[in-house]
Amino acid sequence: MSNENKISEIGKYFSIPISRRDLFKLAGVTAAGVILSGSNGDNHVEAAEKNSGQTLNYAGKKIPVLYDVDVCVCGGGPSGTAAAVNSARKGAKTVLIERSVALGGLGVIGCVYPFMQTHAPNSDTPYLSELKKRLLAKGIDYDDKVTGQTWHNPEILSLIHDEMCEESGVNILYETVLVDALCKDKKISAVIVQTIAGLAAIKAKTFIDSTGDAYLSRTVGVDYERGYEKTGNNQPMSFRFEMGGIDLEKLYNYVVVELKEDWCKSELPYLEIAEAMHRKQRYKLEELMARGVETGELTQEEAEYMQAYAIIGKPGVMSCNFPEIPVKFKSTDPIEYSKAVTYARKMMRNMANYLVKHLPGFENAYISREAAMLGARESWRIRGKYYLVEDDYHNQSRFPDAFCRTAWFIDAHGEKVSEKLPKGGYYEIPYRALITDKISNLIVTGRCISASFILQASMRIQPTCISIGEAAGIAAAYGLRNRVAANQIDWAAIPANQRSYVSEG
Ligand SMILES: Cc1cc2nc3c(=O)[nH]c(=O)nc-3n(C[C@H](O)[C@H](O)[C@H](O)COP(=O)(O)OP(=O)(O)OC[C@H]3O[C@@H](n4cnc5c(N)ncnc54)[C@H](O)[C@@H]3O)c2cc1C
Repeated sequence: MSNENKISEIGKYFSIPISRRDLFKLAGVTAAGVILSGSNGDNHVEAAEKNSGQTLNYAGKKIPVLYDVDVCVCGGGPSGTAAAVNSARKGAKTVLIERSVALGGLGVIGCVYPFMQTHAPNSDTPYLSELKKRLLAKGIDYDDKVTGQTWHNPEILSLIHDEMCEESGVNILYETVLVDALCKDKKISAVIVQTIAGLAAIKAKTFIDSTGDAYLSRTVGVDYERGYEKTGNNQPMSFRFEMGGIDLEKLYNYVVVELKEDWCKSELPYLEIAEAMHRKQRYKLEELMARGVETGELTQEEAEYMQAYAIIGKPGVMSCNFPEIPVKFKSTDPIEYSKAVTYARKMMRNMANYLVKHLPGFENAYISREAAMLGARESWRIRGKYYLVEDDYHNQSRFPDAFCRTAWFIDAHGEKVSEKLPKGGYYEIPYRALITDKISNLIVTGRCISASFILQASMRIQPTCISIGEAAGIAAAYGLRNRVAANQIDWAAIPANQRSYVSEG
């Protein structure tokens, strides 16, 4: 193979900028690596060694350091993607690790759409507003003008995420799983990841844990909680999916016009149907599901909860927020979690068959997509410098280091469903809920921040997780620029024009 050909081959596999001279050097090494791979499989080590100039010893193996950067964000969900883009935009060289092949986490690969409304006035932080504008620009009219929900489209959202990362210079590592971390003197020096080529390391000055499961934090010894302190149960998981072939008009006429269900306030093409037996509210579709139990077509577990939303840009397709998996399957136990998948897939099929048979509009419907990630509402949560509790919701707490506001009600399926706050009410989230005394260069984002089980059931919605990630990215870059450790940053000390949110107190 000529050198030019070797270079274009190698160019395909490296996203980091690399000089032509280095590329030529690399071409030689990789050619050797191809031969070596037959004997010891170390070709990616050799290539990355030349690329970042570093290797590292891990578990008796020499592994490549793929990147040595300012900020490494672990987990590309709503909060992690926001963190990475904002960190890169503020000038930090940033790597984003994601174990799937799409950014957006539960909001894309978990089939969780739409974004719920925060119910708090003026809660959209700049990055969230920009996401919405970009959805509109791509033809997704996300706003139903009634509910305040953001009816996003998953494939468009993952495309937008890719574009925003590309524009801001975020280096994404897809199909890359965070497996371990190296720590010294209360500082993380590198994370160990499993890439498509094998184990590798990423070095960074600051790390952001956006795994949703506090995986990085737990790995480096940060204190954590899981489940409800009163029962030991996690929030129930759901195995979400999409159904296509639905006659939405027929469904609307049946549920809204004939049954007079006033739950769904929006009009086609926006449509939500729901029933939840654990809530005080009685939904018109509860009867349909209860009948299924009487006839033996549904189990009580299946009939308990059913909710589906139209998806803008996918006519005749709905996002199904069911089956809700019994709480005996914990989101924090790998064996039970795996059993839950098999169990819930059967529930999914049975419930879908039931709807096809009995719900007008579903006659020709079929399962068109299964989530590629089980829907864990809550798993592990860190204990940080500030611990948000239920009183913060009811008291509408304000904080000097607040970086966003929210007012989504406490929605701890089965355990507690609170009243909404009075109109205009909200509580804030302080930066101290993202950091700990244990590790100086770690910031935690999204659904696993420092909050009690009950409070987490309010702050976990995607818009709030996005605002949390946005603040984490801004803080990470600010800390590095100003030589302040991530866990010593005072959000209020960041110049107001550099912050995504300024508390009104
Ligand atoms: C069933 C269900 C219904 C919901 N309904 C709504 C709703 O209607 N509207 C709403 O706004 N919110 C809803 N939510 C809440 C919301 O979707 C989540 O709380 C939110 O997505 C959390 O964002 P996150 O960034 O913290 O984590 P996640 O969305 O969980 O993203 C975490 C990301 O990290 C990646 N990751 C994890 N571990 C690793 C690892 N070791 N290595 C590499 N990558 C890793 C994952 O692949 C994923 O991309 C719902 C949640 C569930 C489960």
